[in-house]
Amino acid sequence: MDPYQTERERMVEYQIASKGVQDEKVLAAMRVIPRHCFVPEDARPYAYADSPVRIGKGQTISQPYIVALMTELLGVQPEHRVLDVGTGSGYQAAILGELAAEVHSIERHPELAESARGVLEELGYDNIEVHVGDGTEGYAPAAPYDRIIVAAAAPSVPQALLDQLVDGGRLVIPVGPRFSQRLEVWERKGEQFKQSSNIPVVFVPLIGKQGWEG
Ligand code: SAM
Repeated sequence: MDPYQTERERMVEYQIASKGVQDEKVLAAMRVIPRHCFVPEDARPYAYADSPVRIGKGQTISQPYIVALMTELLGVQPEHRVLDVGTGSGYQAAILGELAAEVHSIERHPELAESARGVLEELGYDNIEVHVGDGTEGYAPAAPYDRIIVAAAAPSVPQALLDQLVDGGRLVIPVGPRFSQRLEVWERKGEQFKQSSNIPVVFVPLIGKQGWEG
């Protein structure tokens, strides 16, 4: 038995379900994915804590509740192709890998991408590809996507990401000033884009051509 199984079930019950996330598929994915495998060895005791965990390069794996909330808002279906911007540890990509047909995940730090790729391979995910690059420009070679999720905060919504959505597609992204943002959900209907949701969040900056300057 996985020694972290009990911690994981507690995480889902007390940090996520009790705060209102109801999507059973999201909860099930978070019950099975070994979050501790995605954090550095010395951070493992905190892997299931109700907080972000550092993963190197000044970056963090987001708080479990925020990961769950964003994934629920994304509304992933089994046939979907998804773009995950800001691979970080690869934990969010693994959740998407459980829910979607195909996942492309893009990270600007090659070392983080390499490490995430290794963990995802070891766990047997063959529907996730990790790329190195500037995710503010999306990932054109595999576009368009049914869903796009961004785990770093942008000053405004990058046009490239809206452009890479299919008709009926959805984007979830934190937007706003450097130290406090709102979680926005964008939906594409033809050439029209509708924005909803307004949840306060704090994310690391999305650095790139259509994001913040590095
Ligand atoms: N989803 C990640 C996980 O599950 O561990 C956590 C993401 S962390 C909060 C944000 C990540 O976005 C960092 O790894 C950072 O390097 C990355 N990032 C920032 N700007 C980026 C960009 N323009 N393109 C790709 N990744 C970017």
